[in-house]
Amino acid sequence: MAATRAGSTAVLVAGGGPAGLAAAAELGLHGVECVVIEPRAVVSRRRPRAKTTSVRTMEHLRRWGAADALRAAAPLPVAWSQRVTFCDSLSGRRITDFEGAFGLTAGRDDRFAEAGQQVPQPVVEEVLREHVSRLPGVDLRLGHTVTALAQNGDGATVTIRDAAGSVYEIGAHYVLGCDGAAGVIREQIGARYAGRSDPRPNFNVVFHAPSLDTHLGPAVQYWVVGAATPGLVGRLDLSGTWWAIIPGIEAAYGAAHAAELITGLVGAPVDHQVLASDPWTARMLIADTFRDQRVFLVGESAHVNPPWGGHGFNTCVGDAVNIAWKIAAVEHGWAPAGLLASYEPERRGVIEQTVASAESNMRSLAGDLPRDERAIQRAKRAEFHSLGLVLGYSYAGSPVIQPVIQPASRRAVAVDVTCYTPTAEPGARLPHGWLPDGSSLYDRLGTGFTLVGPVRDRYAGIAELVQRARRRQIPLSLAEAPPSYPWRTEFLLVRPDQHIAWRSGDPADIDIDLVTGRTGVGPVAR
Ligand SMILES: Cc1cc2nc3c(=O)[nH]c(=O)nc-3n(C[C@H](O)[C@H](O)[C@H](O)COP(=O)(O)OP(=O)(O)OC[C@H]3O[C@@H](n4cnc5c(N)ncnc54)[C@H](O)[C@@H]3O)c2cc1C
Repeated sequence: MAATRAGSTAVLVAGGGPAGLAAAAELGLHGVECVVIEPRAVVSRRRPRAKTTSVRTMEHLRRWGAADALRAAAPLPVAWSQRVTFCDSLSGRRITDFEGAFGLTAGRDDRFAEAGQQVPQPVVEEVLREHVSRLPGVDLRLGHTVTALAQNGDGATVTIRDAAGSVYEIGAHYVLGCDGAAGVIREQIGARYAGRSDPRPNFNVVFHAPSLDTHLGPAVQYWVVGAATPGLVGRLDLSGTWWAIIPGIEAAYGAAHAAELITGLVGAPVDHQVLASDPWTARMLIADTFRDQRVFLVGESAHVNPPWGGHGFNTCVGDAVNIAWKIAAVEHGWAPAGLLASYEPERRGVIEQTVASAESNMRSLAGDLPRDERAIQRAKRAEFHSLGLVLGYSYAGSPVIQPVIQPASRRAVAVDVTCYTPTAEPGARLPHGWLPDGSSLYDRLGTGFTLVGPVRDRYAGIAELVQRARRRQIPLSLAEAPPSYPWRTEFLLVRPDQHIAWRSGDPADIDIDLVTGRTGVGPVAR
């Protein structure tokens, strides 16, 4: 049966999981229309998967105006607990705690605009579905599935099957393959994953046990170590729903012995009802290319990493933001299509670091750890305190970031996952700051580029930069740095994704052609 042509759109987003919904939110923020194709009509709460929404993802949600909605929907408020506890069972002995894990803090922190949030992935998806449905340019089609893709130099044609089985086609300027590890887009563009899988199986179970509590006090995760059933367990809500991950357990064994495994983690039998189980294997995979012409792989269609450390979905959101603002710039005509070539070089390095960190966390799972406080603190610190990775990643070296010659002492220094040191080096995330009125510096940034610095002083270079941007129709806002900001005397040109594109003592030196992909390195064009 021939597919009917059913219109066209700027961006066709294949897949409405975290990556696809984040891409739609970013495109919607920039006023670019898109159609999101997602087979799942409803989000199932039975497979909670990601629970860690990182500080960085929360900052993106804040930019989209959805952070408060996510906090309101999250069943575990941040104030309830910011701790990970290690014990020999929920009714047994405490071995050690990690406080302020996963960027959770009930107070304000100078380093970021939003604390992390523990919230099951289905809740995040529901909040994002609701958010993007309200954006005028976003058309979210639930129950629809992408079946094929064709493209030429001018655009792409995507074939879609709707819930009733009818097949239709949509033309698009760009396609984002956000359809996960098992989607179709990666294969359609001939990209291949490279990497490996962990041989050990993992068994996830969600259960309802309203009478279950622990004398250990609130924690977002309890790691049970040195016991017959090593694993981790935590609350999904405050009404008696719990999740558990038991490494090393085959699906069939887990399904047959779920009650025994739960008893082992709790340390005593507890009345419970198993709601769902979800066996999985950790994989470390990265696609050999993230792009073919007008089609980009975003999120798990491009890479898969073990969940240890809670980076998976957050890295997918980072990909989506990176490609979506660039496509918006091209669609609005203030950047050439060449800008899009920076997506893969910018994200590949971040993804490689993330996969390496998650794999390293996987070396000491619950069954590998002794009942020893110092050994656990040493082995697990990077898993729960990873702001060096979450906020410290950089796009330095990208073709659209100011080239800076690094001093030899700083070259090839491995990222310290546990330690985030704010820096204004080009490529870094703009160091955060609170303003005297209590608002965040991030709330002062425009949706296009922003010049942050002493903008109230009448530098001739500011007017000159503003004029150059205006001639090229590049949206440019100005924001005064907070009085206590360590870089307040410098000018930082900040991209829509809050990364520093250029740092200079004089805005007249800023090359806006380079940072928008118009030119390579050369003299600044006036
Ligand atoms: C046990 C476990 C725990 C985890 N814990 C964490 C954590 O704490 N923190 C974290 O950040 N990450 C975690 N993750 C990883 C996280 O779940 C994934 O990284 C995330 O779901 C990937 O998002 P995505 O949108 O790229 O892909 P997916 O979530 O796989 O979404 C892809 C979407 O595409 C749709 N789709 C598929 N085929 C098609 C098609 N043909 N056409 C259109 N649409 C299609 C699917 O229905 C789906 O909605 C965990 C994963 C597991 C397994």
